[in-house]
Amino acid sequence: MGLLLKVFIPLLGLAMAFYFYSAPENFNEEMLRGKRVIVTGASSGIGEQMAYHLARMEAHLLLTARTEAKLQKVVERCLELGAASARYVSGSMEDTTFPDVVVKEAENTWGGLDMLILNHIGQSYFNFFNGDVGHVRKLLEINFLSYVAMTVAALPMLKESEGSIVVVSSIAGKAGNPFVVPYSATKFALDGFYSSLRHEFILDKVNVSITLCILGYIDTENAVRAVSHVIKDTPAPKEECALEIIRSGALRQRELHYPPRSVGWLVLLRAIAPDFLDSLIRSGYHVENVRR
Ligand code: NDP
Repeated sequence: MGLLLKVFIPLLGLAMAFYFYSAPENFNEEMLRGKRVIVTGASSGIGEQMAYHLARMEAHLLLTARTEAKLQKVVERCLELGAASARYVSGSMEDTTFPDVVVKEAENTWGGLDMLILNHIGQSYFNFFNGDVGHVRKLLEINFLSYVAMTVAALPMLKESEGSIVVVSSIAGKAGNPFVVPYSATKFALDGFYSSLRHEFILDKVNVSITLCILGYIDTENAVRAVSHVIKDTPAPKEECALEIIRSGALRQRELHYPPRSVGWLVLLRAIAPDFLDSLIRSGYHVENVRR
């Protein structure tokens, strides 16, 4: 017990201080002025809010998602808010040729790129895993492989500008969560790919930053509709979340944890007490409300 108090508690304190330490507050919205930015999944939710923040910061925007009518409205609003320019390309990331189409559009329009924000997700279900391998394969294509393809296509331009890649992931990509088995798998894949690629960039002296965004529950329409009857937690605001993603990308941070406290705790607990974390995660659901 004495040893526990003398060694473990101070170590825990140190680890907590490390996790909750936030980067110096040197973000300035002018950092984004005139920058050429692609935002995927920009027709709704967090992606739409990121587009509005970037527009206010006077960035050049290329937005993408499937629904053209929604993208048109988002582009109009971005121009009203002060975007240096705003356009869209519509299409599905399930189509393996589409990532190249989007990046080509940026190349043809701007001749370069400063920031690639990968944010879109395909539709999945919120329930016990149903054994549908085809669905897992399709979701991997949309949530993971299209991110890889966009990164590969955009890399020459990002190397040239010494730009940034921002990857939107989830706490379900750091710790297993029930009812989102296929989604969680695609988000874990992002961590493996981008955390390994970051090493290679550093070894190869490639000055392109990679920011992995680990998000908790956010109040987007789709997320709230899908999970509010089951999740006990209160969602965090999408507008603030979107701004934090842009900020962490501009500051070239390695990871964003948002909301900082709850996600920071989860990541820390996963490292030091994974079984305790798992029981905590399971207690966060009204399991009786999951419609089998
Ligand atoms: P939304 O469902 O609101 O937005 C998803 C976006 O992806 C939409 O623009 C949608 O547009 C687009 N999209 C869907 N299917 C495809 C497709 N096949 N091809 C191309 N684009 C597609 O999501 P959120 O804003 O809630 O989430 C944004 C990011 O944040 C995601 O990466 C998500 O994993 C992450 N996140 C969100 C959390 C939350 O609680 N909201 C929690 C943790 C992480 P369209 O339908 O027009 O194609």
